[in-house]
Amino acid sequence: MTSGNHDESGPGTASTGDDPQGLDAQWLESAIQGAERQARDGAPPFFAVVVLNGQAVGAAGNTVVLNNDPTAHAEIMAIREACREISRTRLTGATLFASAEPCALCLVAAAFAGIERIVYALDADGAADAGFDYRAGQALLGSGIHECLRLEHLPLPDSIRPFTSSRSR
Ligand SMILES: [Zn+2]
Repeated sequence: MTSGNHDESGPGTASTGDDPQGLDAQWLESAIQGAERQARDGAPPFFAVVVLNGQAVGAAGNTVVLNNDPTAHAEIMAIREACREISRTRLTGATLFASAEPCALCLVAAAFAGIERIVYALDADGAADAGFDYRAGQALLGSGIHECLRLEHLPLPDSIRPFTSSRSR
């Protein structure tokens, strides 16, 4: 289906009035703290939280190295945990909070899971500057993904912290 639902509110910009209580920033801060724990453990500094009806139903870090699994990105692991938690294969109405902008794999996985909104802290350029460059996959993906996913960049003062913790090891 390609008809309708074309919202011109603008992709990739910070949220405007959607979140008067600042809950987005709180969930995102918890993702950043998770990413910092990752970094302290010597794991890739990425963490994601799935929030449904105001509750975290999935939270996970990147276990690519730990499990020798190139698909074990934080967002994928959090989606898996959330689906197990609620015993469903769709996360309709959920928001995915990610410490860094999701890569192409995770964007597609989120769309498959029925997630419509993603809020992330550090953008892909910032992650690339910190040594994690996954922008090539996003170019492969093209712009179609933005018709089913709303991506919101919410930069927080702590966004880069997991990466600096990682480098200081
Ligand atoms: Zn990913």
